[in-house]
Amino acid sequence: MATNHAHGIDLTDREISLVTEAVRSGWISGVGPSVSKFERGLASQIGVREAIAVANGTLALELALRALGVGPADEVLVPALTFAAPAMSVLAVGATPVFVDVDPHTWTIDPAQARAALSPKVRALIAVDVLGRPAEYDELAELGVPVIEDAAEAHGATYKGRQTGSLGDVAIFSFYANKTITTGEGGAVCTDDPDLADRMRLMCNHGMRAEERYVHRSLGRNFRMTNLSASIGVGQLERWDDIVARRAEVTGRYDSVFAALGLRVQKTSSWSSTPGWIGTACVPETQRVLARLVARGIDARLLWPALTRQPYLRAWATRPCPAAEEIARSCIQFPTSSTMTVADIAEVGDALAAAMS
Ligand SMILES: *Cc1c(COP(=O)(O)O)cnc(C)c1O
Repeated sequence: MATNHAHGIDLTDREISLVTEAVRSGWISGVGPSVSKFERGLASQIGVREAIAVANGTLALELALRALGVGPADEVLVPALTFAAPAMSVLAVGATPVFVDVDPHTWTIDPAQARAALSPKVRALIAVDVLGRPAEYDELAELGVPVIEDAAEAHGATYKGRQTGSLGDVAIFSFYANKTITTGEGGAVCTDDPDLADRMRLMCNHGMRAEERYVHRSLGRNFRMTNLSASIGVGQLERWDDIVARRAEVTGRYDSVFAALGLRVQKTSSWSSTPGWIGTACVPETQRVLARLVARGIDARLLWPALTRQPYLRAWATRPCPAAEEIARSCIQFPTSSTMTVADIAEVGDALAAAMS
């Protein structure tokens, strides 16, 4: 068996047997051997000292923000082109998101625009490795505010030889079902800073240390990943290189399709590498083409609206973000998973060519 192709989810008998083993053993909560195994395996895969598994990527962002001491009265810089979780996490800790425009080529947060948005209130910056492309971390580090790397879409990418997930002061992953590496629902925070890691472990577990039950040392919540999800994660970690390589093959085929049609795509800087995440291209007459693709049964969609245009979030839009808004208006994302075949992608390519003609 192997894959649930309908949803494009890359799970095998290995993950099934690991989960079954966890259920049989009775380790079903957020305490269990797979959780620590997953954390150690992830830390070594990424090349960081500490990885902490959590229930989802959104809580991972909240955990990172809280551990950095971000709260009411603080501002956090957030790129305007992203899935909304970074902005929502800033609001969840009572701080104010400041939306910053993205680079029109790489679509990641523009360091010059971030510098222009700095003020004494800015307490942190969330850089999103959007659609798998690493942001410009060396330039962002020069801004002098702590950087949270949101690598939710960037498993297996590199920046100047370093893995995504190791590029900010603290980084987060999501392992949601549509992410390159999945645990169903899940996330992690990664850092080389032992104090930050300690604060995050406490916060994640009711403010208690494992060896001091019912002694609450700090504000804490329950952000834990279950041992069941972590068991899937252990199987995914064993297959990491293979899953990432197949994702790169699929997005690479999409890029050939887009190039043949002369479409504008996101650029990867020469010092970065990425397997990509979702096949995406900017398409003229976007709405008309999208409607024709959908009519042909292709699960194509727009990218996320820019955060400055979101019904709930636009109240916080204080700076113009024309590049993010233009990309969000004109780009289409195509069905992508590491289980897609050459024929699957050719079918989408043919439908796109027909829809554009
Ligand atoms: C998916 C995603 C998240 C949220 O992760 P969940 O696990 O779904 O909570 C955060 N940031 C980005 C950029 C994402 O794509």
